[in-house]
Amino acid sequence: MRPAVMLVCILGFIVPAQLVSTTPLPKRIVIAASTLFDGKGHVLRDTRIVIDGTKIVAIDPKAAPVDYDLRGLTVLPGWIDSHVHLAWSFGKDGKNGSGGWTPEEAAYQTASNAWVTLMAGFTTVQSLGSPADVALRGAIARGDLPGPRVLTAVEPLMGQGEKTGTPDEIRAFVRKQKQAGADLIKIFANYSVNRPNLMLSQEQLDAACDEAKKQGLRTLVHAYKDAVRSATMAGCTEIEHGVLATDDDLKLMAAKGVYLDPQAGLVWENYLRNKEKFVGTPGYPASLEGFASMQELILVYHDFMKRALKIPGLKIVFGTDALAGSHGRNAEEFVDRVRDVGVDPMAAMVSANSVAAEALRLSDQIGSIAPGLEADIIALDGDPLKDITAVRRVVFVMKGGVVYKYAVR
Ligand SMILES: [Zn+2]
Repeated sequence: MRPAVMLVCILGFIVPAQLVSTTPLPKRIVIAASTLFDGKGHVLRDTRIVIDGTKIVAIDPKAAPVDYDLRGLTVLPGWIDSHVHLAWSFGKDGKNGSGGWTPEEAAYQTASNAWVTLMAGFTTVQSLGSPADVALRGAIARGDLPGPRVLTAVEPLMGQGEKTGTPDEIRAFVRKQKQAGADLIKIFANYSVNRPNLMLSQEQLDAACDEAKKQGLRTLVHAYKDAVRSATMAGCTEIEHGVLATDDDLKLMAAKGVYLDPQAGLVWENYLRNKEKFVGTPGYPASLEGFASMQELILVYHDFMKRALKIPGLKIVFGTDALAGSHGRNAEEFVDRVRDVGVDPMAAMVSANSVAAEALRLSDQIGSIAPGLEADIIALDGDPLKDITAVRRVVFVMKGGVVYKYAVR
């Protein structure tokens, strides 16, 4: 396909933006940057990135000629969101969970969620728990659809007490996901801050995480309170949410190298912003008044993340739980983390770059800007170290050497 030109409105100006498709890849691209974050916490000044095919081949201040002049912007590795739900959209009547779309319409919705996520600067996502992710992952990997690189859990293991199954049945479920193409296993050990009763016994959790390990898969456990310790003891590799875990639980996670993926706000802000769409749907308050308590819950999440930040050696990744209403707004979670929780802005960036890549076991491919890695590169209009809202102004997106957004004035 030949490059197409589209108009993008940025900061009130209409500017041409190039939308370049996947084939053929230009032989060599040079990007000039005045401020470059390497994804590991270092800042490089006045340098150039050389890309050949899908990969970065050199960082060379003298490389020429320059194809993309990104000086004056902040250039950094494409972000990684460790927790999204790309197949989750509002139903045809606008309500959450109501469906009503034909399979074709639903597929386009999912493709659109992938597109807006990529345009927001996220070049890799971990989509946690829908078989629909598998076809999407393939279409994006083949270059048929623009979107972030997708890792999927296929179907999650929902803790349902004894009904979940015997340890052997749970092991068979894990193997079934692997056969269906899972990159990781998602497990619900319990459900929420208000319903923290354990839905999987220690024996069941042990079986799930041990079998995944045998299959070479990571395990992401949706866990609150006591479930955090159980999952850590079971050898699972990452905790989603984690709220109400004690400091001792968090210290145990740090000692065992278990990653934590907490949330500072976007997921709740999205429920409040779209409460008419969520109200009365399964798992959400029956009346609009019921959403008021979410404001208090946001503070509980903030306090939890503040505590987690103080645990030495605890590795915190960036995950938004993006779902219907918040696809493409993933970067708001950075703003929440820095503004409301006091996360250091560079630590926030690194949590979505090298730390996330390490959690995904993909450090040799993504998460930093260095020779040999995939050319996943974005640019922000502004400096997130001085003003975190710069994360809302993604003006350049390259994934695997292909430029998907170039809206630089
Ligand atoms: Zn989720």
